[in-house]
Amino acid sequence: MEFDLIDAIKSKAQIDESVDLGIGDDAAVVNISKGSQLVVSTDTLVEGVHFDNSATPKQIGHKALAVNLSDLAAMGATPKWVTLNLTLPQIDTGWVEEFIAGFLSLAEKYQINLIGGDTTSGPLSITVTVFGEVKKGQALTRTGARRGDLIAVTGEIGSAAFSLKNKYSGLVDALHTPEPQLEISQQIKSFAHSCIDVSDGLLADLGHICKASALGAKISLEQIPVNSAVKDSTPQWSSHVLSGGDDYQLCFTFDAKDLDKLPANCSIIGQMGCGEGVKVFANNQEIKVASKGFIHFNQTDK
Ligand code: ADP
Ligand code: MG
Repeated sequence: MEFDLIDAIKSKAQIDESVDLGIGDDAAVVNISKGSQLVVSTDTLVEGVHFDNSATPKQIGHKALAVNLSDLAAMGATPKWVTLNLTLPQIDTGWVEEFIAGFLSLAEKYQINLIGGDTTSGPLSITVTVFGEVKKGQALTRTGARRGDLIAVTGEIGSAAFSLKNKYSGLVDALHTPEPQLEISQQIKSFAHSCIDVSDGLLADLGHICKASALGAKISLEQIPVNSAVKDSTPQWSSHVLSGGDDYQLCFTFDAKDLDKLPANCSIIGQMGCGEGVKVFANNQEIKVASKGFIHFNQTDK
């Protein structure tokens, strides 16, 4: 049974000339481009923790790969290979077929080769590992931010958290089928000083850049790009934006002299400076944001 399943996965996976050996042997063998470094990231999605039955198997397949690709986008890397570890309560061919369809359609969009994995029985969980390339020494990290750097984000922030809180009623694509920001990653990698993907919430993730770069950040709530559905929903919209997670947008810093290189669909939200941590301003007044992502609203919120 398990081998039928692996054969079915193999028959659908497209591989290119970078792969000498893909699914079917004891290990995969791939060719790394000359002058490049291997960039590796892995993430696990567990049923009941990272997804529930509001997501279709196809959406789960998409998201399992997307969250990993987002990490490589944050590194300025080009994803090339992926492995897929499936832990399944039972062999449900229909579920796996749908899951694989979602997974492989995203893989094909970015020409990523599924080269192996593992299939075991147990509570539903999915572990994906992506392997990508970056020119030697060119990886974008969290540590490179400089004092005075502008801070930018891609897309809109807070949509996924909003959708989750509102029982998937609006902006559900942002939650269930996030788009990894691989194109923008390639456009910014030549001039960005630091980068992270927003998976745990903007404050937490920008906070990682601050800590890693030994700097502070000041951001302005009004400048953060937020979908109007989120802003119109509740006076507490800023908690989705600042502390919600699952955005899979990029947050990066760069020198103001490179402003003309900023791609479309990016917004400047603040600036790096001395100090520690992230300070948030609304109407030019600092607003208090408790740790753990809880926000004490004040008069500056709608
Ligand atoms: P082994 O016992 O050597 O680990 P497996 O039976 O686990 O072999 O796997 C056989 C082949 O199928 C390997 O190439 C493995 O990478 C691949 N494979 C197993 N499960 C998956 C999966 N869920 N997705 C993709 N490839 C898989
Ligand atoms: Mg195995």
